[in-house]
Amino acid sequence: MKYVLVTGGVVSGLGKGVTASSIGVVLKACGLRVTSIKIDPYLNTDAGTMSPFEHGEVFVLDDGGEVDLDLGNYERFLDVTLTKDNNITTGKIFQSVIEKERKGDYLGKTVQVVPHITDAIKDWIESVSAIPVDGKDGPADVCVIELGGTVGDIESMPFIEALRQLSFSVGQDNFCLVHVSLIPVLGVVGEQKTKPTQHSVRELRALGLTPHLLACRSAQPLLENTKEKLSQFCHVPAANILNIHDVPNIWHVPLLLRNQNAHDAILNQLNLLSIAMPPALQDWTMMAETYDNLTNSVRIAMVGKYVGLTDSYLSVVKALLHACIACSLKPSIDWIAASDLEEDSAKSTPEAHAAAWETLKNAACILVPGGFGDRGVRGMILAAKYARENSIPYLGICLGMQIAVIEFARSVLGLERADSSEFDTDTPDPVVIFMPEGSRTHMGSTMRLGSRRTLIQTPDCITAKLYGNTQYVEERHRHRYEVNPEVIEVLEEKGLKFVGKDETGKRMEILELPTHPFYVGVQFHPEFKSRPRRPSALFLGFILAATGKLEAHLKSHQNGV
Ligand code: GLN
Repeated sequence: MKYVLVTGGVVSGLGKGVTASSIGVVLKACGLRVTSIKIDPYLNTDAGTMSPFEHGEVFVLDDGGEVDLDLGNYERFLDVTLTKDNNITTGKIFQSVIEKERKGDYLGKTVQVVPHITDAIKDWIESVSAIPVDGKDGPADVCVIELGGTVGDIESMPFIEALRQLSFSVGQDNFCLVHVSLIPVLGVVGEQKTKPTQHSVRELRALGLTPHLLACRSAQPLLENTKEKLSQFCHVPAANILNIHDVPNIWHVPLLLRNQNAHDAILNQLNLLSIAMPPALQDWTMMAETYDNLTNSVRIAMVGKYVGLTDSYLSVVKALLHACIACSLKPSIDWIAASDLEEDSAKSTPEAHAAAWETLKNAACILVPGGFGDRGVRGMILAAKYARENSIPYLGICLGMQIAVIEFARSVLGLERADSSEFDTDTPDPVVIFMPEGSRTHMGSTMRLGSRRTLIQTPDCITAKLYGNTQYVEERHRHRYEVNPEVIEVLEEKGLKFVGKDETGKRMEILELPTHPFYVGVQFHPEFKSRPRRPSALFLGFILAATGKLEAHLKSHQNGV
């Protein structure tokens, strides 16, 4: 196994994840099989309990792993399916060491950070990098490891030490370190400053790691003399100093790396030049350029709870982008804080209330994404009602599906207090209830997580046609509550159809309103499996419906065109 380690210096938020996944894309384009590992030095064992407000979305994997959103970037960029073990956290490592200690596996020894924690990190990396993630057999050729945080952080020390040892044990030809750093420009002088990078490289060296390449983030392209300085003071050949300046969209980053021959420098270090091909990035280039040149846009209202930080819904945003590009459209997302739509806000913040409603009414389609807790739920219900009554395309994901059911029960069945037992434990009409799956005790978790099969109930529905008339789909889940099986009959009688169910027939997975142009709710999260050139069927349908092209699309697909 060959390793490419990506570390970061100076400040966080440099786009290390994008850089690391772009390196993966370029290596893959050279004909190599690539896997990836993300190291998060925080103590949480996984991202499951982390607030999207603070940390962005929780990404969900096929195996039910709740992981850092960077793994989503890897899956999308490299078109791979990762496992929960591809995300290492300090919590996971400590937990495994402590469990071993409790079992007596250390035979009475004092258990220490060095060597026990560092050995556990090395073992983890070596075993996880061997798991095939691209659907082929056998391990990949290269594993890109991204170390989260900034070099010098206390939390990352055990990882740095473990990686130093790993670099030594796997040998020169199997280890390549790319250090991502920032080249700021000071306002008055306008000079590109290299000192912060010099310091962070020095820090890395003091810890025993030597960067082979520098990836310098800057607003404008690096000047020749900045590069020379960096080379001289950081002890890195000028040809190995890459510059990632600001680009119109992130798909340009692999192209930027290819243009600077990053692949040659990395392949050379890993002694892979003889087996690699020149990078084939034609499709990728076309995709990046198509995006830049899109002129027409479609207005999508996103009615959610965490609208302050757009990373909270990163995969939904990406899935919309993939679908829009397939329709030659630029997504124009209007973020609406669900609570602004509520009656209360008309009194407390009338301007925000009016603006939210105006935005909602100007949108071509309405999406209510997943979420937890009751904040903004009343606003989401109003948005779903507006979409239903005015024939505006509606896509409800997870919570968004449950919202559609509550709204329908209240407005159409006349059950005024219908609710989810998540929001009102005393509701006389619990139309959405807690339905734990399997063990209630396993790891203390009660969430239904990861890939599950949904059986399509009838070929005569939008979803079946969009998914290509298949009998079942496999999508990822992350929820506790579900539509109450006891109310299905009455809901269906009044026109809300459950066209997708799980294998037991008890869990409702997909709902549709046949009298509406596109009113779809799904209990799963189709956004997690959307890929740049393979948009999620449901997102594609949603965008097509928003632009009045859904019917034509479905017809042409039915005829096999
Ligand atoms: N809070 C809801 C549940 O637990 C929805 C979860 C979600 O949208 N991911 O079922």
